[in-house]
Amino acid sequence: MSAKPALPETASREPQHFDVLIAGAGISGIGGAYHLTKQCPEKTFLVLDMQDSFGGTWWTHRYPGIRSDSDLHTFGYRFKPWTGPPIATAAEILAYMGEVIEENDLARHIRYKHKIVSANWSSRDKLWTIEATRTDTGERLTFTANFLWMCQGYYRHSQGYMPQWAGMENFKGPLVHAETWPQDLDYKGRKVIVIGSGATAATLIPAIAGDCAHVTMLQRSPTFFITGRNVNDLAETLRQLQIDEAWIHEIVRRKILFDQAAFTHRCVDEPDVVAKELIGVVRNYLGSDYDVERHFTPKYRPWRQRIAFIPDGDLFKGISAGKASVVTDEIERFTETGLLLKSGKRLDADIVVAATGFNINVLGDIEFVIDGKPLVFADTVTYRGMMFTGMPNLVWVFGYFRASWTLRADMVADFVCRLLKHMDGAGARKVSVALRPQDEDMPLLPWIDPENFNPGYMMRAMHLLPRRGDKPEWQHNQDYWSEKDQFPAIDLRDAAFVYE
Ligand SMILES: Cc1cc2nc3c(=O)[nH]c(=O)nc-3n(C[C@H](O)[C@H](O)[C@H](O)COP(=O)(O)OP(=O)(O)OC[C@H]3O[C@@H](n4cnc5c(N)ncnc54)[C@H](O)[C@@H]3O)c2cc1C
Repeated sequence: MSAKPALPETASREPQHFDVLIAGAGISGIGGAYHLTKQCPEKTFLVLDMQDSFGGTWWTHRYPGIRSDSDLHTFGYRFKPWTGPPIATAAEILAYMGEVIEENDLARHIRYKHKIVSANWSSRDKLWTIEATRTDTGERLTFTANFLWMCQGYYRHSQGYMPQWAGMENFKGPLVHAETWPQDLDYKGRKVIVIGSGATAATLIPAIAGDCAHVTMLQRSPTFFITGRNVNDLAETLRQLQIDEAWIHEIVRRKILFDQAAFTHRCVDEPDVVAKELIGVVRNYLGSDYDVERHFTPKYRPWRQRIAFIPDGDLFKGISAGKASVVTDEIERFTETGLLLKSGKRLDADIVVAATGFNINVLGDIEFVIDGKPLVFADTVTYRGMMFTGMPNLVWVFGYFRASWTLRADMVADFVCRLLKHMDGAGARKVSVALRPQDEDMPLLPWIDPENFNPGYMMRAMHLLPRRGDKPEWQHNQDYWSEKDQFPAIDLRDAAFVYE
């Protein structure tokens, strides 16, 4: 008996149809799935993720010490109380997300190991056709969906941003990127250089310093940090008073957000005073002999880049103890045994770790085609950083950078559910956003104003991102305080929404 020929990969199954397809099972995608089941229980939906499990950022990042840099009271979902310490490890965040999945029976809606490779919109059928490849078998699957909810994050998980330095190939030891940390990397008793001064470097260094011979943080320029105890005093007090956890969650979130708003205003109104305060705390940890001026006095205004929280000042304690040190300089080239710096100084290392940030990949490296034409995302204009001109029936969750990402993921989810219900009520099968007559002369600007927020990974990718206008509805303003009132008030009958 002859074996049946294998089906061609592209035609292995009939397309499976869902009302909504969610791309990504990170904190945004799992949140989206939760809100859909609660607010639109009649909708069928599927979550696809290329990883082996849920979590996104918290699943893929495996470097020692990996933890949040903002508090989990606000990074956690609005609907599920966070009961642990404010700064949480990746494992704690994954456990929390796992509970959300289990408590709400979401697992049956999620398929892992499915990498979405293309998304094709047809205005004739008012339908997305999504092609995915199984990462384990290579099988190609086709899905159709009325609505695409993009929760794919904003950077490539498989590869961090590695600048190219002269002589990299000459270095004898391992050169690794924190984002793809080899689990068998043996750093015990070794001299390690960590290149970078952002949240990743600040997390990684105290986590490995105790085991290494020495860790050097090599930075081009200093970064702001906030330090404090990893305890929320208000939450602890409310707990002592035996207040219900749901109440504690809400009260503590409001208090944190209130304090953050005041802090953000101060960063704009009196940046020099805030900078002095933040640097003063570092000075207290490191002592008057330490060159804080050179290593911990940033050149930019506080809040132009995210400010990482350092629980219990652990990074500075490592420096004080002599286990870690900071060098502020630039790399001239790699040598066999380490780095030659622009100042002429040499740094020896057994291992070099690049904590040099992300590669932004807008739209999850998915090839988008709209009515037969390949999409040029940068040519679109964004509606509040979540919808895009010329991209019907699609919303992208792009959270906050300064405040917690998830605050916005929850708000966008409310919007999507409201939009879906509105479309059903109006008998519409297609919605797109379009500039109104009053928007026609609107200047079109880059996605984010670099005067406002300018980390390197955003600046490197600005040419790939949609443009914004100068009116609130055509911007992602990164301001939770204005959006929390604006989002629920969005008029779905406004001429910016075109229904068919
Ligand atoms: C180390 C680190 C620490 C951070 N700490 C904080 C913090 O404390 N507070 C904060 O607010 N933000 C933090 N961030 C930013 C963080 O990424 C976001 O807050 C948030 O986790 C993003 O969630 P997400 O679900 O939108 O995207 P992600 O976490 O990026 O998840 C996206 C998921 O989509 C999947 N996906 C992407 N493309 C495809 C495709 N083509 N096919 C199938 N699946 C796909 C990915 O596999 C991934 O699982 C941190 C980021 C990093 C890297």
